[in-house]
Amino acid sequence: MNRRDLLKAIPLTAAAATTTLAQEKRKYKIVVTGGHPGDPEYAAGGTIARLTSAGHDVTLLYLNDGAWETSADIRIAEAKRACEILKARPLYANQKNGHAIVDNDHYQSFQKIIEAEAPDAVITHWPIDNHPDHRAIANLTFESWKQLKHRFALYYFEVSDGEDTVQFPAPTHYVDITAVADMKKSACYAHASQTPDFYYPLQDTVATFRGFQAATKKAEAFILQLGSPNTFDLTVATS
Ligand SMILES: [Zn+2]
Repeated sequence: MNRRDLLKAIPLTAAAATTTLAQEKRKYKIVVTGGHPGDPEYAAGGTIARLTSAGHDVTLLYLNDGAWETSADIRIAEAKRACEILKARPLYANQKNGHAIVDNDHYQSFQKIIEAEAPDAVITHWPIDNHPDHRAIANLTFESWKQLKHRFALYYFEVSDGEDTVQFPAPTHYVDITAVADMKKSACYAHASQTPDFYYPLQDTVATFRGFQAATKKAEAFILQLGSPNTFDLTVATS
């Protein structure tokens, strides 16, 4: 290439660089679903913190308000505080704690919520889980993904392994949460009525184990659903 050709090539190179930068700076919409207030925070709180600090928009979609031994008012206030810490937005699918319904009506109403959010990615419970509400929202989420023709990337998280999530297989994605571990801990402890002194150390042990696998101190692990579009990647979005 002579000097004249080289000069001609410069604008193209600059244009290519601008495009790459635009792609890198793209803002994504991510929905993290949970059977109850607290599930997304425990499973993916570090990842949520990294996504929002990178400028992405994250909604935590809870299947119900968590009312049981603790009132709905307290659970909703705790979730609001947890979301403030993570800079996420709470949203409710208005089912009842411990009485999850998965039928055609609820598939449709859940799909409408997902459709209105228009996410680039949804992260939900791994479907093999001891809690029926967790299995229900995984099922509702998968059906929405299927009905909406795989238009968003679908990922699965693990939460309270052994207590809730069981038989979580080899992760496809790891997010290093070392730098945001304190923020995640605060969001988990915002759910003060839900015995965080028991559940947080359990989840933190999982984060340490996933950290070993990802060659860092603490990590969260995810499984990408095959058939997801390649327009969103959790590793890229959190970096
Ligand atoms: Zn739960």
